[in-house]
Amino acid sequence: MKLLPMKTFFWILTFIFLSTVSSPAKIKVLTTLNYLRYITEQVGGDMVEVTALANPKQDPHYVTPTPRMNQLANNVDLFIENGLNLDIWAKNVIDASGNPKIQPGNPGHLVATINVPVKELPTEVSRAWGDIHPQGNPHVWVDPLNIKIIAENIAGRLSKLDPAKSEYFKEHLDGFKYRTDEAMFGEELLKAVGKKAGDILARKSKNGDLASWLKSKKLESKLGGWMKKAERLNGAKIMSYHKTYVYFADRFGIQLVGELEEKPGIPPPPKHRDDVVEQIKRETIRVILNDNFYSTEAADYIASKTSAKVLITYIDVGASPEVDTYEKLISYLLEKILVAAS
Ligand SMILES: [Zn+2]
Repeated sequence: MKLLPMKTFFWILTFIFLSTVSSPAKIKVLTTLNYLRYITEQVGGDMVEVTALANPKQDPHYVTPTPRMNQLANNVDLFIENGLNLDIWAKNVIDASGNPKIQPGNPGHLVATINVPVKELPTEVSRAWGDIHPQGNPHVWVDPLNIKIIAENIAGRLSKLDPAKSEYFKEHLDGFKYRTDEAMFGEELLKAVGKKAGDILARKSKNGDLASWLKSKKLESKLGGWMKKAERLNGAKIMSYHKTYVYFADRFGIQLVGELEEKPGIPPPPKHRDDVVEQIKRETIRVILNDNFYSTEAADYIASKTSAKVLITYIDVGASPEVDTYEKLISYLLEKILVAAS
């Protein structure tokens, strides 16, 4: 038998060694909602394998856990939920998974909305709001500035689970944040503001003084993206079936003047419908946003008595092919509301 030359032998050994140490194993992730799957894929790149439990067309408050979901959860390294009592059904899946890694308190369990400023926190006065938002309004992700915090939380946890890849996750996170800032404020403004533009503009927007700051810096003409588009909606009055769009409306300067539900989770009683009809007539409200998973019965009734248009809206990524990315979801909402409100 001919012996392998020493050099070839050395390279074979090196190859075997490298393929063992730089483990190609992906982090297996299970998320409750599809927007969380999408963001995890953005920051995790090729190093994650992500599945979402809910159907994006479904009401995220009410998903029925199945044996298949428990089985999926048995075999993952990380479980990500929205939290704030929205996907409370996740608890049943985690409990039934038999997977110690993903139990709350362990690194394999993440509540993605940590550090996101929550609106409508219950107080003594507002407790009458009902039961399905007991920790405040959980629909935080339709504000693009919140999605960046969520992406940071996810990237941070992936790095904790696989520190050797933390540089990779950081790069992907930065890329996602930049793309979000670009979609939000426009490339030209980001370039004009320079370093840390995304952070600076986000802070100004959160403080409510973005417009005056841009004016003082003579940068108004540079504003682009969603914020520019939303200028046309400034002060527009809309209603929604459920309190799904509070964060979206606040960010984009839309006035949400009420809900068809009397309380979150409680379908509108006839008396409330008639009160809404009067309000719509009085305040000239043009649009009613009705999430795709709620019946349009009440909205159709109200529309038949007023000039308001009913807009069927999606809230999760992938609920329809036209919203199969987060960016498309926000663009879709803005565009549809602009058309309906004009
Ligand atoms: Zn809700």
